[in-house]
Amino acid sequence: MTAPGVFWLTRDFRFADNAALAAACIDGPLLAVFLLDPVTLAQGAASRWRLMQALRAFDAALRRRTGGVGVTVLSGAPEDVFPPLLQQTGARRIHQSDWPVPQMQAQQQRLRGALAPLNGALHLHGGHLLTHPHRVMTQQGTPFRVFTPFARALRRLGPDRPGPDAPPRITASTTGPAGISLDSVNLSPDMHSGASVLEHYALPSGEDAALARLEAFFTRAAPYSSARDRPDIDATSGMSEHLASGEISPRRLWAITALRAEAEPALAGALHTFLSEVIWREFAWHLLLAFPQMPRAEWRGEWADFPWRGANSGFTAWQQARTGIGLVDAGLREMRVTGRMHNRVRMVVASWLTKHLLTDWRLGLAHFADSLTDWDPAANAMNWQWVAGCGPDASPYFRIFNPEKQAAQFDPDGTYRAKWLAGWNATTAPHAAAYYDTLPSSWQVPQPWVADGDAQRLSAGRNAALAAYSAFKSNDASPRFEGL
Ligand SMILES: Cc1cc2nc3c(=O)[nH]c(=O)nc-3n(C[C@H](O)[C@H](O)[C@H](O)COP(=O)(O)OP(=O)(O)OC[C@H]3O[C@@H](n4cnc5c(N)ncnc54)[C@H](O)[C@@H]3O)c2cc1C
Repeated sequence: MTAPGVFWLTRDFRFADNAALAAACIDGPLLAVFLLDPVTLAQGAASRWRLMQALRAFDAALRRRTGGVGVTVLSGAPEDVFPPLLQQTGARRIHQSDWPVPQMQAQQQRLRGALAPLNGALHLHGGHLLTHPHRVMTQQGTPFRVFTPFARALRRLGPDRPGPDAPPRITASTTGPAGISLDSVNLSPDMHSGASVLEHYALPSGEDAALARLEAFFTRAAPYSSARDRPDIDATSGMSEHLASGEISPRRLWAITALRAEAEPALAGALHTFLSEVIWREFAWHLLLAFPQMPRAEWRGEWADFPWRGANSGFTAWQQARTGIGLVDAGLREMRVTGRMHNRVRMVVASWLTKHLLTDWRLGLAHFADSLTDWDPAANAMNWQWVAGCGPDASPYFRIFNPEKQAAQFDPDGTYRAKWLAGWNATTAPHAAAYYDTLPSSWQVPQPWVADGDAQRLSAGRNAALAAYSAFKSNDASPRFEGL
């Protein structure tokens, strides 16, 4: 019996630039394992739903390369699953692309402990990031705290070159455990009717779809630098889901984009801006690695005692996308129906919750984590803290988005709001109607949508937020929340 090369598939559903998969193929006939482990099962519903799409697409592509053998799905913690698998098959090494979140690192640690008595080893490979997380550091050797110098340093060093691809034909192992049939796996049973709506509005999944989406983006990328803030225009790449699930690596995306910019100088400016956004993703991981508590604790220590409001009726209305503020509800409905939300609208939505409603950013973060198909633990945490004012930004305190002004500037004709809000204008778009199909019976959401965004309400929220912040800064009494 030839011992297999074991590949532990996590968030790297691709064949190109996948050093872990390539190494497993060299070790022996491939045994590709996907684990229903505690870290995966603890992720948000929409994110798990999207993982399932990635897994199906990868499994189908793997079967094409092996002549019919797909991914082996197993259930349990890695430290319980892999030692018997190694004993059964004679394999000694497990290859995994590193996904450096603290919960995964804790699992890796426990697995290493369990493998040691068997002389087994876990090999971690890069690929989730543009470069090794400790390569870009300040001159003092400390992590960066500000984006611009980080981006400059990264561009100066350059991202890593893409790693090896898996071979086009793969010999598959037949010695592994039977595994759970993919058809019987449902990673998001808690989504109920939301799953079929998401399915209807989903972007295609998989590595081929990621490449096709990137190519399609290049053909309409010219106005990206100015139009990327407009939710009413399809101006951004839509690559975040593919990056989050590892259907394309950021360094391959970078390499392809850089080649395209060289070949088409008219696009160079737009693609430079696009790559800056990809550096924001890298910066988020840089911050998370330096401060692993980022999803839970304020990045700026001085904000640790800020008395955010806990769950409240305003938060419930926000969660249910019935705040009465057009751009806010449109964004939250877009997320319920598609699992996505335009970046500008994410900022406005997050600002409404943390500023006008002074509600704890962690509640918003958790809601996004449960609802986004492009959920990324680093980007989600960094951006929530950035908007709330407790994260990495030079001028956080007085930046309070006025959602009506934002709407006038970035959705001037109301196209985006009409798409997502039933009753915004005479006809209800199918997208707007689909939102109602996702609602649990316990939610009472009026149809058509009801506006409640007069100037008085907007300025009362803004003034209360400013008063709360200055009271907090001057160590005054507790912030005032009247009139929210
Ligand atoms: C409150 C809040 C929460 C967010 N949560 C997530 C999240 O969970 N997952 C996620 O991928 N992005 C998150 N973002 C960032 C951003 O909104 C999305 O990456 C973007 O909307 C994805 O669309 P796109 O791929 O078309 O973006 P493009 O404009 O085409 O950008 C290209 C890529 O750059 C990266 N990127 C762009 N903007 C940001 C940013 N602000 N921060 C980090 N990376 C960025 C993404 O990987 C994106 O795919 C969040 C932003 C906010 C304000």
